[in-house]
Amino acid sequence: MAVAAPVRATVRLTSACNNRCLFCCQDGLEAGLPAVEERLRALRAEGVAELTFTGGEPTLHEGLVAAVAAARAAGFAAVGVQTNGARLEAQAAALKAAGLTDVHVSLHGAAAAVHDYHTGVEGSFAALERGIGAARALGLAVAATTVVTRSNFRVLSPLPRSLHALGVSAWLLELPRHAGRAAPAFDRVVPRLGLAVPFALHALDVALKLGLASFIRGAPLCALGPYASRALFDGRKAFGGRCDGCAARAGCGGVEAVYLARFGDGELNARAAAELAPLDALARLFVGPGPLHAVEAGHVHPSPAAAREALPLLGKVKPAAQEVAPGAAKKSGDALKEILPQLFERG
Ligand code: SF4
Repeated sequence: MAVAAPVRATVRLTSACNNRCLFCCQDGLEAGLPAVEERLRALRAEGVAELTFTGGEPTLHEGLVAAVAAARAAGFAAVGVQTNGARLEAQAAALKAAGLTDVHVSLHGAAAAVHDYHTGVEGSFAALERGIGAARALGLAVAATTVVTRSNFRVLSPLPRSLHALGVSAWLLELPRHAGRAAPAFDRVVPRLGLAVPFALHALDVALKLGLASFIRGAPLCALGPYASRALFDGRKAFGGRCDGCAARAGCGGVEAVYLARFGDGELNARAAAELAPLDALARLFVGPGPLHAVEAGHVHPSPAAAREALPLLGKVKPAAQEVAPGAAKKSGDALKEILPQLFERG
C-alpha cells in the first residue's frame, strides 16, 4: 500500500526563476496568478489547513513574506515555501518571523558539479547548502526533492548522508515529469526505469537506514519491489498491455503515457495477487516447530566470566613454577642426570 499524500494546498506566487533546471516542468507557465488573499480565503473555506507557496521561484516575489504572514493570519497551521535555495540564506529569518514552518528545496546531487549541471547555474549548490543551514539554524523543517535524471541516477547514493548531515527531515526521489522544459529534452533527461530505479532504491535504502523519511514518485509499483510502501503518486496514470490482470493495478500509479509511447511496457511486470498478500498474512505462515523437548531443570550454562576462568590463557608460556624458580641459573645438559637419572642408567 502506497503512502497517502498529505493534504496540503499550493499557492503559486510567480513564474520567474533564477535557475535554469533542464527538467523544469513549470517552464512556460502563464504568469497570470490569482490574488493571494483571495486564494487563501478560498482554501480556508474548503477546510485546507496547510499550504506551500510555489513558483517559479517564490523567493523572487517581493510579497512572499507578507503572503506567509497572511496565510498564518488566515489560520493555516503550517506554511511552507518551495525554493531552489539561492535566496534562502538572506530571507530565512524574515520568513521565519512571518510564521513560515517549513522549507522544500530541490537538490540534485551530493556534489556541486552534479547539482549545478542540473540547475544550469554555477554556485547554486553552495548557495543552497548555505540556505539549508540558515533554515535549520532557525528551527525550520526542511524537505528535499531530487529529480532522478539520466545524468545523476548513478550518483544518488551519497545524497542521503549529505541530506542527513544538513539536517533535512524528508527526501523524495522523483522521476521527471513530461512537461515544460523536460518535454522537448525527453531523451536527454528521462532515464529508463530499468536502469535508474535500482540506483534510486539503493539510495532510498541508505536513507531509510539513516532514519531519513524517504519516498519515491513516478515509478510503478512493479519496479519498486520491497520499497513499494515508499511510493507516492501524482496523477501519471498510463498502463501497458503487460498491466492486464495485474493485482497491483488499483493501487499503482503506472507511468507517463509519453514514457510508454517512447519505450513500451517491457519494464512493467504484472503482479499476482499472492505476491501482494499483506505481510502479516505471510508472517502467519511461520508457525514455529511445535512442542519442544523440555531440558532438565537446573541445567544452566556458566556465565561468560566463569567460562573464561575455566579456559586456558593465551599468551607467553610461564616457566613451570615448581621446577624452576624465577631467576634460577640455567642448567647445562649434565643437569639432566639430576632430573631424569633413569635416562642415564644402562640396562
Ligand atoms: S504491471 Fe502495471 S499495474 Fe502492475 S504494478 Fe506494474 S505498472 Fe502497475
